Amino acid sequence: MTAVADARELLAAHPVATTPDRELRAARFDAGLAFVHFDAGFGGRGGSISDQVDVEEVFTAAGAADWSARNVIGLGMAAPTIHAHGTDEQKRRYLRPLFTGEEIWCQLFSEPGAGSDLAGLATRAGPADGGWRVSGQKVWTTLAHVARWGLLLARTDPEQPKHRGITYFLLDLTTSGVDVRPLRQLTGEAEFNEVYLDDVFVPDAAVLGTVGGGWPVAMTTLMNERVSLGGRSVPRGSGPSVGLVETFREALAAGRAGDAELDRVMRLWIRAEAARLTNQRAAEQARRGTPGPEGSIAKLEMAEGNKAIYDLCVELRGADALSYRGYAEVRPDAAAVHGGSGDVSYDYLRSLANSIEGGTSEVLRTVIGERVLGLPPEPRADKDTPWSQLRRS
Ligand SMILES: Cc1cc2nc3c(=O)[nH]c(=O)nc-3n(C[C@H](O)[C@H](O)[C@H](O)COP(=O)(O)OP(=O)(O)OC[C@H]3O[C@@H](n4cnc5c(N)ncnc54)[C@H](O)[C@@H]3O)c2cc1C
Repeated sequence: MTAVADARELLAAHPVATTPDRELRAARFDAGLAFVHFDAGFGGRGGSISDQVDVEEVFTAAGAADWSARNVIGLGMAAPTIHAHGTDEQKRRYLRPLFTGEEIWCQLFSEPGAGSDLAGLATRAGPADGGWRVSGQKVWTTLAHVARWGLLLARTDPEQPKHRGITYFLLDLTTSGVDVRPLRQLTGEAEFNEVYLDDVFVPDAAVLGTVGGGWPVAMTTLMNERVSLGGRSVPRGSGPSVGLVETFREALAAGRAGDAELDRVMRLWIRAEAARLTNQRAAEQARRGTPGPEGSIAKLEMAEGNKAIYDLCVELRGADALSYRGYAEVRPDAAAVHGGSGDVSYDYLRSLANSIEGGTSEVLRTVIGERVLGLPPEPRADKDTPWSQLRRS
């Protein structure tokens, strides 16, 4: 039977209306329908990414809960990275509770002095009995306040050039010495945090990949991050363009819009549709394995397209767009990356982060130039110098 047929059968045995969400997701994992393209026994069945898209649609159509915003980093980044680089023991331990929603994940990559230049990171991990002791500061850590686990990059050998000597750890956020503090965004919400690590013990078993070999593992996370933020498969006429069309209709009825605005709406709608179809084609073509740099195109287009759409929405709403729902500090349990909240003033403010999170638009253009188009690379004078000798801000 195909994965889609199996998904329908599973739903018949576990109807969405009467099965607790966690139980349904556990059954889905055990049937190899969680990540169809993963190996059997780890939530998959060695299928293709396009099978995964089809299965996802079956569960969505049946009304199954969507966890993509609540465990955005777990599902989009941690799972594929652990599947690609983890030991069987790690895959067995982490993938199931990640998929069921029992354990939320966050990404402890960025630091005050290392964002676009991620390889410059300064969080240190020194050897300890049975593991490592980690100290440093991470920042912009989405959903760390609800996360149980973190994807942590730390420097284990400062005498190596910056891309080497980094180790990738799976950090238990309940460990003593981890301090998560809220950071408020332009929207007023604190979706993300700063995370202080003070002599935190991490066991050897928590190393993902090899000691000093964290950079290629981090690349798997980043490539998947770009696909998960930019390349998701959505139905025609959904997402931010819905808000745009509704806002235009209201503006037309109120006499604030005419043919000129219609032309702008149509251009953005076509742009969003072109991006959607490009993502769908990429998903059809994709086979198992780590996504390539092409994901950067999807992420770039998502960011710039969303910003243009919500910018026009605000313009169409006129003075009404200035009223805002309030700035009470809220710590949401989901990341509102893609907009579509129904409140265009909020979505506009949130969309401004799209061209920063998951790699800035400038950096993605460099990735596309160098690794997709094959243009000459930017000069990188520091790539062979030991990290300890680099000048840092
Ligand atoms: C909403 C949100 C959620 C986030 N969530 C997480 C998270 O969960 N975990 C995590 O680890 N990080 C997270 N981040 C951090 C994000 O990955 C970084 O903010 C991003 O990589 C940019 O790094 P920076 O903020 O240090 O800016 P910088 O790297 O200092 O960049 C500043 C400016 O310089 C430009 N610039 C830098 N280098 C170049 C270059 N070589 N060429 C051209 N221009 C350049 C940038 O494009 C940018 O405009 C999040 C950010 C946001 C906004």
